[in-house]
Amino acid sequence: MTTISLAGRTAFVTGSTRGIGLAIARALHAAGARVAVVGRALERARAVAAELGEGAAGVGCDVTSADEVQAAVAAAEQALGPIDILVNNAGLTRDNILLRLTDADWDAVLDANLKGAFHTTRAVIKGMMKRRAGRIVNITSVVGLTGNKGQANYAASKAGLIGFTKSVAREYASRGVLANCVAPGFIATDMTAALPDDARATLLQDIALGRLGQPDDVAGAVLFLASDLAGYVTGQVLVVDGGMVI
Ligand code: NDP
Repeated sequence: MTTISLAGRTAFVTGSTRGIGLAIARALHAAGARVAVVGRALERARAVAAELGEGAAGVGCDVTSADEVQAAVAAAEQALGPIDILVNNAGLTRDNILLRLTDADWDAVLDANLKGAFHTTRAVIKGMMKRRAGRIVNITSVVGLTGNKGQANYAASKAGLIGFTKSVAREYASRGVLANCVAPGFIATDMTAALPDDARATLLQDIALGRLGQPDDVAGAVLFLASDLAGYVTGQVLVVDGGMVI
C-alpha cells in the first residue's frame, strides 16, 4: 500500500476557511504539504492556519479581484515557497428560478466560481511551467454535469469550470502541469445547511450510498489528484457524490 506524501510541496487552497476547503487544507497539510489557507475573512484564514500549525499561512483574498489574487499568491509564496498545488474551491450560490435571477445573482456566482479560478490559475501557471510541475484541482459540482432547477447561474459556472479545466489540461500538459476537477454531490456544509428537511429527505432517496457526503469525502479525492498516484490523470472530472449521478 502506497501512502500519500506531499512533503516539500506548497498548496494554495481558496475558500479554505470552512466547509470543503477547510477539509482539503487539513488533508493536504496532514500529508506533509505546506498550505496557504485562503478566504475573504483574513482573521479566520489566520486562525485556521494557526490551528494547522507549522507550514501553514493564512492569506486574505477575494478571488473575484485579480489584484487581490496576485497579492495573495505573492504573499503565500513568500511565506511558504513556490506554489505546486492550486485548489480552486472558493464558491457560492445565489439560487433562484431563471425568471427571478437578477444580473447581480448571475455575476456574483460566475465571478466567484469561474472567473476566480481564472485569476488564480493565471497567477500560478507561469511558475508551474518554469518548474515543469504543477497540480490544479478545481472543485466543480455534479450540477455542472446535470444542470439543476433554480441553479442556472451556479450550474453554468460549474460547467464552465469543467471546460476551463480541460483547456488548461491540454494547454499545459507538455509543461508537466496536470489539471482535473472534483465534482461533489450533496455535501454537509454551511452551503447546504439551509435546505429544508423534506427536500433533504427527497435528495437522500437519490443517493445510492444513502447518506450525505462529508467534506472529508471530497478532500480524499483532492488529495489523490494532488499526489504522485495521479501522475497520469489530467483533464478529468472525478465525481464524489455517493452514487447520486450514475
Ligand atoms: P461554504 O459556503 O461552506 O464555504 C465557501 C468557502 O469559499 C468559504 O471558505 C468562503 O470563505 C470562500 N469564498 C466564497 N467566496 C469567496 C471569494 N469571492 N473569494 C475567496 N473565498 C471565497 O461552501 P462549501 O464548502 O460547501 O463549498 C466549497 C466548494 O464546493 C464550492 O465551490 C461549492 O460550489 C462546491 N460544492 C459544494 C457542494 C456542497 O454540497 N456543499 C456540492 C458541490 C460543490 P470566506 O467567506 O472567508 O471568503
